Amino acid sequence: MIEPGATVGIVGGGQLGRMLSVAAAQLGYRCHIYDPHERPCAADVAAEFTRGAFDDAEALRRFGHRVDVVTYEFENLPAAPLVELGGKLRPGTRSLEVAQDRAEEKSFIERTGARVAPWRQVNSLHDVEAAVAELGCPVVLKTRRYGYDGKGQAWVREPAGATAAWAAIGEQPAVAETGVPFQAEFSVVMARGEHGDTAFFDLPENRHEGGILRRSSVPASSAVLQHGPAARAMAAGIAEALGHIGVLTVEFFACPEGPLVNEIAPRVHNSGHWTIEGAATSQFEQHIRAICNLPLGSTALRSGAVSMDNLIGDDVLRWPELIAEAGASVHLYGKGAPRPGRKMGHVTRLRA
Ligand code: AMP
Repeated sequence: MIEPGATVGIVGGGQLGRMLSVAAAQLGYRCHIYDPHERPCAADVAAEFTRGAFDDAEALRRFGHRVDVVTYEFENLPAAPLVELGGKLRPGTRSLEVAQDRAEEKSFIERTGARVAPWRQVNSLHDVEAAVAELGCPVVLKTRRYGYDGKGQAWVREPAGATAAWAAIGEQPAVAETGVPFQAEFSVVMARGEHGDTAFFDLPENRHEGGILRRSSVPASSAVLQHGPAARAMAAGIAEALGHIGVLTVEFFACPEGPLVNEIAPRVHNSGHWTIEGAATSQFEQHIRAICNLPLGSTALRSGAVSMDNLIGDDVLRWPELIAEAGASVHLYGKGAPRPGRKMGHVTRLRA
């Protein structure tokens, strides 16, 4: 067990690092943020901040010496400089490597026995055309690396659109995957401890717009809930195969023939923000518990229904009205001026 008073290092200083730091502080830990930006929003609530590049192996090594355990709050990080942190890094580099490359991720998920939408690896326009011919339209192209919130994606709705879509993603190595006519989207947010103990939160049903999460709702609809046992088993299999320690999020499409995995995030996730008010233990506290070898906390619901709405870009300008709303829990990330598509905060509402 890592004792209270110890220092938790967090690579990445965005809102996830910020909310992890708040949860860690409640358990008596100090947080030390490592991030390349001048003033990342997590640094405002952490004990220490080191500014450094994600590929600066020497700076990361020094950072590792100053903390008792290290975690990361996003996955677009080079894994090699983190290898040296060894067992101090939780989750380990395996989870990072699998999650940051969509081709590796899909092959890995399939090897665990879980299902993904039919897909092909594509490295050229010729590959894209062949994939479109085999899979049939619509197909979505997703760059293998550095995609998030719908970035690095382009749809091919008819075969003639292949050239434009390939250009739109910058002609980079990608995966082509069948567009799924899903009934709903949902995620499994779970935690796994060092000894393989697991805990699962209730399933949030997620609504995206333009590739960005807008709302998570609990309980999910019956179209989602019927897939709960199968989806949880798939997520548990993925966590086990990764040897994952910490929170793991697996995003799913609910389809009549069963759940399909969309992608995994080796970390706390936007679709788990509702747990701060809505569950007995938040996903952030759960992650800190898992990486510090504390017993995992209860995931029991605290109310009958919970919704979490993201405040994206100018949505945040509505904060005076939201803060005055009875029962609305407003979270602002302290990111400065709003920019289109940027996650600036969220608001959670509980109902009996
Ligand atoms: P991703 O970045 O892969 O999570 O994709 C962002 C969003 O785009 C997803 O949450 C879906 O709403 C949509 N999307 C991604 N892949 C597919 C697919 N194969 N079929 C249908 N919708 C998709």
